[in-house]
Formats: sequence, C-alpha cells, structure tokens
Amino acid sequence: MIQTGAPIVALVVLVEKSLQRSWQDAQDARCPGCKKGAPFELVERELPSPGRGEVRLKVQACGVCHSDSIAKEGLIPSVPYPIVPGHEIAGVVDAAGEGVIGWSVGTRVGVGWFGGHCGRCEPCRRGDLVDCRNLRIPGINYDGGYAEAMVAPADALALIPDELSPVDAARLLCAGVTTYNALRESGARPGDLVAILGIGGLGHLGVQFAAKMGFRTVAIARGVDKEALARKLGAHIYLNSQTQDVAAELNKLGGAKTILATVTSGKAMSSVIPGLAVRGRLVVVGVGADPIQISAFDLIMGSRTVVGHASGASIDSQDTLAFSALSGVRPTIETMPLERASEAYDKMMRNEARFRMVLTMGA
Ligand SMILES: [Zn+2]
Ligand SMILES: [Zn+2]
Repeated sequence: MIQTGAPIVALVVLVEKSLQRSWQDAQDARCPGCKKGAPFELVERELPSPGRGEVRLKVQACGVCHSDSIAKEGLIPSVPYPIVPGHEIAGVVDAAGEGVIGWSVGTRVGVGWFGGHCGRCEPCRRGDLVDCRNLRIPGINYDGGYAEAMVAPADALALIPDELSPVDAARLLCAGVTTYNALRESGARPGDLVAILGIGGLGHLGVQFAAKMGFRTVAIARGVDKEALARKLGAHIYLNSQTQDVAAELNKLGGAKTILATVTSGKAMSSVIPGLAVRGRLVVVGVGADPIQISAFDLIMGSRTVVGHASGASIDSQDTLAFSALSGVRPTIETMPLERASEAYDKMMRNEARFRMVLTMGA
C-alpha cells in the first residue's frame, strides 16, 4: 500500500527519469547526436513544399520569445529534433497546397502560438480551439519561423493589415493577442477601472490595449522610473508597488473590474487581489514559479474571480492585428538579422531585450 510522503516523491522522480530516457531514445532515433541545449546552427535546407491544407510562407520577421526555450533547451519530451524554433511569424504566402481556400499567393499573413488545431477533440468540437488537446505550436511541434521559409496549416493563419510592418505584426502575434484577447474577454466595459500588473513584454502592450479599449487604465510596476513610460503608453494612473499599497490604492479608486497579471511573480499577483472590485477578475497571463495565494475571505467577499487566459486562436490574432492597425497600438522591439539569432536569443534569455527581439529575414 502506498503511503503519503516519501514514496509519492519517489514515484515522481521515477516518472521524470523514464520520460528523460524515452526523450533521449526518441532523439537518438530521429536525430543522432542531437542534444537539447546545443547551440543554434545555421544550415541550408531544401525549400519545403506545402501539403494538403498547408501553405508555405516566405518569412519576413519572427519574434524571439522566452517560450522558444522549450525547443532550444528541450523542456518537453515531444519536440521533434532537429527543430527550427519560432512562433511569432510574419510573412507572405508563397505557395498554397491542395485544398487551401481563401489564402492566395502574395497575401501577408502571420502565425502565432496557435499553429493549428485538430477539429476532432472535445474542446475543438465545442469551438474552444486554443484549448485543442492536439494543439500544434510552430517551433515546438513543427519547424517554425527562425528561417527564410516555413510551412504552416492554413487554419493557423491570421491576415496582416497593410498598416502593420512585419516586425510589429510578429510581436503582436504572441504578447499582443495574449493581452488583447484577455482584456476583451475579461468582462470589463468602457470606463471601468482596469489595472495592468507589470510593464514588460506583455504589460507594455496590455497598457496600450486597455487605454485604447476605453478603460480607465492603471499601470502597476516597481519604482518611479517606469511612470513616464506607463503614461506614454496611455496609463491614466500609475501605482508604484515598491512604495504604495497597491490593493488599498485600487480600492480608493473604487476597485478594479479587471487586473491583468503580466508579471512572473505569484507573490505580486497575490498582493493585488484585495484591490479587485465586487465581481472583479484577476486575469493571469504571466507565468511564475511561485504559487498565487488567495485568502478565501478575499475571494468570497466581493465574489471575486481568479482566471487563467491562454493567448487565442488565429482569428483572435487577426482581430489583434486589425485593432492595433486601427488604434495605433505598437510593440517596442529591437531587430536583428536571422544570422544573429543566437545573439538575439541569449539577449532575450538574459532579460536584456526592450521589450522584444525580432529576427528579420532580408528583403
Ligand atoms: Zn511568444
Ligand atoms: Zn482539437
């Protein structure tokens, strides 16, 4: 009989070990010598051909995202090595495979984290495509955008409006759709108090979207030096979490209908929950290592909600791009040519990019 305590911990370790073994066996079969965490290699390949229901893109720009480390560092066992990373892709349809309808050669399109759905699983059948149990992610399940060309399923495509450059569109296809979609689905209405916790890669877009959507926008960050940036991005109110009791300040303003948590600290998210209004929602899009802690009292008194939000499907990406073109929301980016992908990745991993590195693929 299994008892609580040590035997359960041992079981977890065994599972991890067996996963690692199967990962290595699978890699050795597919790609002898391939090792997770190995350096990037610039290689020449044959131009891929799109299969049924797929298009080939001439890639113009691809964002370098922290989630690319899943492929680079081998964080999950199912990555088919060797793999081309990249899931923030902007380009032009270069060839369309059999059965592709509505996407013609020359159309400007993007592909984000949502890289295709199965259409058969229960979430898909209920119309919840981003939660597809067989969700395909470019750069993790199939070759992504750190390349001059790639093949993607047509259902993963989002139309890029003329007003948006490839580098701006690329970045909006990950952090953009995540924050835009989270805010529009949060239940907050124009004029409501909406707070964005954190002004980094996600938050600097969240503040812009919130202001352009007509919310009374509060930006929350650490220190006084972020205030000028927050106000430039459209924040009406700035709260310095180093010197102010954020929850108390939000309550003085009537309480937040939505707090969009973009930071990577569970502790910081926990501390703002009492600043939610009655029926207010903490919408979590940042991923932290430490847990979010909530007192049942804070949750019950005011009927508050804490909810996670996963980016969006390709039509949500398309809506994000259209809204950004319409309203002037733009990401802050640094660009580097594809050949310097390794440098761009290292800079991103050191958290030195402001706010995103985007690779460009020549003319
Ligand atoms: Zn991303
Ligand atoms: Zn599915």
